[in-house]
Amino acid sequence: MTDTLSPYMGRFAPSPTGPLHFGSLITAVASFCDAKAHAGQWLVRIEDTDIPRIYPGSEEHILRCIDAFEFEPDAKIIFQRDRLDYYQEILEQLQQLNLTYACQCTRKMLGSNHIYAGTCRELGLAFEHHAIRLKVTNQLICFTDALQGEQCSNLQHDLGDFVLKRRDGIMNYQLAVVVDDAAQGITHVVRGADLLDNTTRQIWLGQCLNYAQPHYMHLPLAMNAQGQKLSKQNLAQALDPQHASQHLQQALKALGQPAVELDRPYRMLQQATAQWDRNLIPQGGRIAGIYQ
Ligand SMILES: [Zn+2]
Repeated sequence: MTDTLSPYMGRFAPSPTGPLHFGSLITAVASFCDAKAHAGQWLVRIEDTDIPRIYPGSEEHILRCIDAFEFEPDAKIIFQRDRLDYYQEILEQLQQLNLTYACQCTRKMLGSNHIYAGTCRELGLAFEHHAIRLKVTNQLICFTDALQGEQCSNLQHDLGDFVLKRRDGIMNYQLAVVVDDAAQGITHVVRGADLLDNTTRQIWLGQCLNYAQPHYMHLPLAMNAQGQKLSKQNLAQALDPQHASQHLQQALKALGQPAVELDRPYRMLQQATAQWDRNLIPQGGRIAGIYQ
């Protein structure tokens, strides 16, 4: 075990935009086993700031699955919707540091260009009723992902100043994630490779706020028969809490880990933790095989 793995505070942070499916289980299992295998702690956080995208019943399904799979978080589960005032405070700190500005551009004005040109940077618009953007700089930000290797991005060239709070008042995912990872003392972020592209902007935001940078491990994604990542949009099946043990066995197999006998879920997780080996996780961005 190297120094970078101790101490270890891990987390699982699902968004209730649909019921938990097999792809989310892979993330839950890997984040849990990796934390416990390194004598760490494991927390659960529900990322529900994007209220219009919340899918009815999915929060209950997530909580029911955490129970049924006998994952035991080491602290009370937190909900981001309870923390909006705190995110607002952090936004105001960034404003004081002159790192943010208000943007009046509509989606129509921005068109299909995904790189924001900084149109509103010098306009000095009022912060109320506008989107709030974080300034980025012309520098390369790099990190080494435990599975995906060295990753670099120049945010100014690749993305431009990005939104922290939307015009409709909704706090952006990037802000809530970075603020909560710091508030919860998260040292290791284990999540799906679909979030790999977000990481350099989260690192930049963390640097602006003087936060310690966590270690990252982005897991390959389980695909469906059509080669799409599992999601509510392509009708990934909801996990069935009644078949928790079978689902666990499949998730460990997908993660390339040694087989675990069917048993009560907590015993299977104990065994999986004892056998856990990061090096066995399939390489690359996708998990071969077909999952529903
Ligand atoms: Zn603008």
